[in-house]
Amino acid sequence: MSSISANLQAVRRTIRDAAQAVSRNPDDVSLLAVSKTFGPDAVLDAATAGQRAFGENYVQEALDKQAALRAVRPELAGALAWHFIGPIQSNKTRSIAEHFDWVHSVDREKIARRLSEQRPADLLPLNVCLQVNISGEATKAGVAPADVAAVARAIAALPRLRLRGLMAIPAPAGTADARRAPFAALRRLLDTLRADGLDLDTLSMGMSADLDAAIAEGATIVRVGTAIFGRRA
Ligand SMILES: *Cc1c(COP(=O)(O)O)cnc(C)c1O
Repeated sequence: MSSISANLQAVRRTIRDAAQAVSRNPDDVSLLAVSKTFGPDAVLDAATAGQRAFGENYVQEALDKQAALRAVRPELAGALAWHFIGPIQSNKTRSIAEHFDWVHSVDREKIARRLSEQRPADLLPLNVCLQVNISGEATKAGVAPADVAAVARAIAALPRLRLRGLMAIPAPAGTADARRAPFAALRRLLDTLRADGLDLDTLSMGMSADLDAAIAEGATIVRVGTAIFGRRA
């Protein structure tokens, strides 16, 4: 068994244990394998072990990887879902709209408009999450919590996008309680949007170091890189 396959099993176990600890159904938490900086062979290993959803931060790297996988294993490549999770530059929206199934890192209306306009007509609407600067860090991407409702409404009205929910990358925290607090805040924001009538089902939160805290607070997608593929160079 490859170490990637063993790591995947361990991460799936962590997800199951964290969900069961708070009486959630583990099937309600999906695992996004973050393959940034790792090559097509690593994705192939994970896919062979049953993983289907992959997260990427850099557009050109992701497109090269997708093409390499289509060349060696077209059927398997066709079964994979690609999620863009990195910062989005305006000049990259067309490639993202054409080559991804999900985008987690939408943090302004202008980018959302471009993605909607550029989503090809023969593909399903692009699933998007609004990224929230939940810890209020000066340097971090994301919409301020106070602006989330207005931006979410604007994005939900765009025809070729399907707004699914919220995403955040909280500041690192030392204690278990401190790790849970920002995830709880993101969940409350989602609850507020749903109470206002938006049809949302996704909380994209939790990475290798804090997925259990995120699951305890309601994560529906955890984005895990290091714990599956190892440390990035
Ligand atoms: C790299 C990255 C991850 C994965 O982080 P790990 O700590 O390696 O699990 C998750 N989300 C985003 C947005 C990332 O950029």
